Amino acid sequence: MNEPEDAAARRAVAPVICYPTEAVPEVDMALYRDAVAGAVPVEAVVVPPRDAAAIVVPAGSVLRIACPEGPQVGDLNLFHARNLSERFYSGKTRALQGTHVSVGDRLWSSFPCLRPMATVVTDTLDWYGVDRFGGRVHDVIGTRCDPYTGNLLSGGQYHHCCHSNLTRALAGHLDVPLDAAEPHVHDVLNVFMCTGFTADTGQYFMKASPARAGDHLELLAEIDLLAVLSACPGGDCGAEHSSDAAACFPLLMERRDPVPGALAGWAPPPVNGYDRSHGA
Ligand SMILES: [Zn+2]
Repeated sequence: MNEPEDAAARRAVAPVICYPTEAVPEVDMALYRDAVAGAVPVEAVVVPPRDAAAIVVPAGSVLRIACPEGPQVGDLNLFHARNLSERFYSGKTRALQGTHVSVGDRLWSSFPCLRPMATVVTDTLDWYGVDRFGGRVHDVIGTRCDPYTGNLLSGGQYHHCCHSNLTRALAGHLDVPLDAAEPHVHDVLNVFMCTGFTADTGQYFMKASPARAGDHLELLAEIDLLAVLSACPGGDCGAEHSSDAAACFPLLMERRDPVPGALAGWAPPPVNGYDRSHGA
């Protein structure tokens, strides 16, 4: 190993946060919390194990994602309900909020809109924090389990990975062929999944989700949302995914509406202010 003489000094340089978010308008969490606490369920969609389902949640309503029966990881895609090109941007959400999301964090949309699509208001797993392996819950670092990586690594043809589940559910919701829906499927929010990076090799790891029956995550829809959720074939993702080996449970998506006036003074965020002239 050819280390320079000042290697220790170079490694000792302190990090700076890439994207300080102090300038982003603050969320009025007290307003959001009260609105979500008083919201009433108006529609529920069951996501069967190893399958996916879709629900529309208007701006100002709540999307509750729950584990009704047992620990189950969900892979979530979000779109603007009438414009599929505005979709959840996992990478930028990671850059702005961190590797995992919880109460107060926002889920950001793709360019050129780059605005909050949803804000996390309730997380019954927020007690988990970080474990001794560096594991945290609800990550935006994974992609989604998919049949292409499965084929690359083991040569199989498995059809119930989250990518395929999301593709089928989106195609069904839009009433379009699978190959028209598939390009819209994107990297996910891994709801209830417990993940991190190994300290020694920096590899992405997963471990059994700490979720139990009754756990849920509540998102306030900042814009009109189409949410598509897959119940991962990995179940609690404690062992493997991309097979039918794991015990899997259903997930529940609920649209809940705050009582009228509960979000007084709130409005959906505008699209990003960049003028898009790109220096031309
Ligand atoms: Zn999956």
